[in-house]
Amino acid sequence: MRYILAIDQGTSSSRCVVYDQQANPVAMAQQTFTQHFPYPGWVEHDAEEIWASQSCVFKQVIQNAKLKPEHIAAIGITNQRETTVIWERSTGKPIYNAIGWQDRRTADDCIRLKQAGAEAMVRAKTGLLLDAYFSATKISWLLDHVEGAREQAERGELAFGTIDSWLVWKLTDGELHITDVTNAARTLLFNIDTMQWDDDLLALFNIPASLLPIVKSSSEIYGQTRNQVIGAGIPIAAIAGDQHAGLFGQLCINAGMAKCTYGTGSFLMMNTGSQRVASTNGLLTTVAWQIGDQIHYALEGGVFVGGAVIQWLRDGLQLFEQASDSEQLAGSVADNGGIYFVPALTGLGAPHWDPQARGAIFGITRGTTSAHFTRAALESICFQVDDILQMFSAESGSPITQLRIDGGAAVNNMLAQFQADISAVEVVRPTNLETTALGAAYLAGIAIGLWTIDELNDKWRIDRSFHGAMPSQEVKLLKQHWLKAVTRAKNWAE
Ligand code: ADP
Repeated sequence: MRYILAIDQGTSSSRCVVYDQQANPVAMAQQTFTQHFPYPGWVEHDAEEIWASQSCVFKQVIQNAKLKPEHIAAIGITNQRETTVIWERSTGKPIYNAIGWQDRRTADDCIRLKQAGAEAMVRAKTGLLLDAYFSATKISWLLDHVEGAREQAERGELAFGTIDSWLVWKLTDGELHITDVTNAARTLLFNIDTMQWDDDLLALFNIPASLLPIVKSSSEIYGQTRNQVIGAGIPIAAIAGDQHAGLFGQLCINAGMAKCTYGTGSFLMMNTGSQRVASTNGLLTTVAWQIGDQIHYALEGGVFVGGAVIQWLRDGLQLFEQASDSEQLAGSVADNGGIYFVPALTGLGAPHWDPQARGAIFGITRGTTSAHFTRAALESICFQVDDILQMFSAESGSPITQLRIDGGAAVNNMLAQFQADISAVEVVRPTNLETTALGAAYLAGIAIGLWTIDELNDKWRIDRSFHGAMPSQEVKLLKQHWLKAVTRAKNWAE
């Protein structure tokens, strides 16, 4: 029996999952680490603590699986994207905390660059927006604010990496300084047509090329572990950013296939095949993955408040005790009773784009109950996802053939059915909802020849499929009302 170990380094915790040769999970270990918020809008992690927690769960998961390191045939890595670490090549010591992807300290720098007219070039080359989420302005900030950093960088003494690069550096005791195309594609420094670091972008952000890791495909043997804590000689064979690994873990391997992760927010990605689709509505274009010479592109969109709306009903309004109670409560009424809930708790993103919008509930009458509120909240998750699915179809010019779902709220059958109804798409829920780690394991297993994509397709198991059953006239009315509610929730905050 050969096993694959997936390292899943997330925003709030470090996880490891071991899979057997059939790609079934056999053991998991997880540890949280400290979030640092030194000022409003700043989010930092201690990169050494990330490594310590990750190496700890690495050892733990091997123990939990009753294995020895030599039973692990390959490691696949998936990680929170964009988070930025800079360290000294000679000592391996970070020069500052890792700046998290949510960190907004460079928002004004992005505005200045936009005002200088840089966004069109950035968008054309990277498929992204000029936003503080991405790594480039975080790197510039570190070079400009950590004493001596810029000089050190000019002398080639520093290394930049997203979390994947940092982990590989640690796993190989500094032998490898690499990243993969999916992580590179989130830095604002990588040209997704040429698949190279881009000199114009490096100049724009004033970043020396000597900092950068070598960019590899998402599935190949990059090297072996050398770290004494982990054990030596295990092949490191896959790297992919979390959403990309999720798309692969859902085996959305052909153009037109899409996945939605229903978590706190909702995160959608659609495979557009070898075609890079440009968005005119503020969606992101990204590299889905590279296997061998084959590159897949993807469209990406997200909703800030997804499952969080259920949390708010639970904790803010105390309508029920557990998120899962929402299904029964919402199911106790025949329909939404005319209630529409716009969960613009932090403004609205794609395709409505209004930071001044705020949460609103419309249509309340004497007959309205907490069940209607709950139903409207679940439906609001689906309406927002539908808005993005419609954009995916419109911009790619091809209809979505299937939506594969995961994340904490995907277990809710009412939500899945309503999505299938209003989006007129087959909604498929796999048995294994831990698709991010699974995707990293799939990519690593492919790299070492343990399985092929066809074999993985044979192993992939569906828990349940949902087909649209609602008359089209009813769907049309629901969507009209949703749009009307969104329009009224806009432009509220001053
Ligand atoms: P994250 O990874 O973003 O922290 P998870 O994937 O763990 O989130 O999903 C948790 C979210 O899903 C929470 O916002 C919670 O309110 C929601 N949720 C969990 N179970 C259900 C359910 N059965 N029905 C609806 N929402 C749910």
